[in-house]
Amino acid sequence: MTDIQTVERLEVTVNTPAGPLTTPVEVPTGLISVTEIVPLLRRLGEQAQALEERKALAAGQRISCRKGCAACCRMLIPVSAPEAYRLRDTISQMPEERRNAALDRIAQAQRRLEAAGMLTRLSEIAETQRQWSDADMEPINRAYFALRMPCPFLVDETCSIYEDRPAACRELQVTSPAEWCQDPVTNPVQALPVPLRAGTALGLLWSDLVGGPIRFIPLPLALAWADRHAEGARLKWKGSHLLEKALDQVWRFLTHTRTED
Ligand code: SF4
Repeated sequence: MTDIQTVERLEVTVNTPAGPLTTPVEVPTGLISVTEIVPLLRRLGEQAQALEERKALAAGQRISCRKGCAACCRMLIPVSAPEAYRLRDTISQMPEERRNAALDRIAQAQRRLEAAGMLTRLSEIAETQRQWSDADMEPINRAYFALRMPCPFLVDETCSIYEDRPAACRELQVTSPAEWCQDPVTNPVQALPVPLRAGTALGLLWSDLVGGPIRFIPLPLALAWADRHAEGARLKWKGSHLLEKALDQVWRFLTHTRTED
């Protein structure tokens, strides 16, 4: 059981390409699982994204994303292993009727992927020890989007797990007309830069903690992956140690991004 009786209060400062950000952090002094560090990294990602948005607005740009426009909820969303475990917790805590409906939609999505001949390839991406590059993923992302299949968590064109949606869902913001996102292959969609990809940092963290590649699990397969690898969700680390490791990966991500620039 997680020791949440005492917490350490810290302030974390991160220099992102969009500017520096400082955020207060509370970390349990006892043992915690990796799912408990997920909200912090997502928060850092969102705060960095807010800095980027402010820069864009100051430069006279306008964010076109609006509630009810869920074009990006038909894209292949990559989920890090810690987020897959977190998603499993989210689903298990839903009231029964809602949980069953979510499980039905996940099963439907998997059947559709199978019918489209994509399920085996996506399972390979989730399970193999191979590192999948952006170039490997590009044709897969295109084929997935061509299905126009809504995310299993999209209900009435609204995210049904909004507070706990994956980091990747928090990152796409466009300044080009929203309708262009219906066909991003043909249209020159202008997306804001993403100063800190929290999902990638979480993927790096998991790889550092347990070894193996930086795993990206296609969202419709995330629950099945977390069930198959349930032992990972039971691993515990001292809160301060996990926080330090997570911040190391944030810095590693940011350094790598700067080097690429
Ligand atoms: S989790 Fe929510 S925001 Fe992300 S793709 Fe699914 S419906 Fe959209």
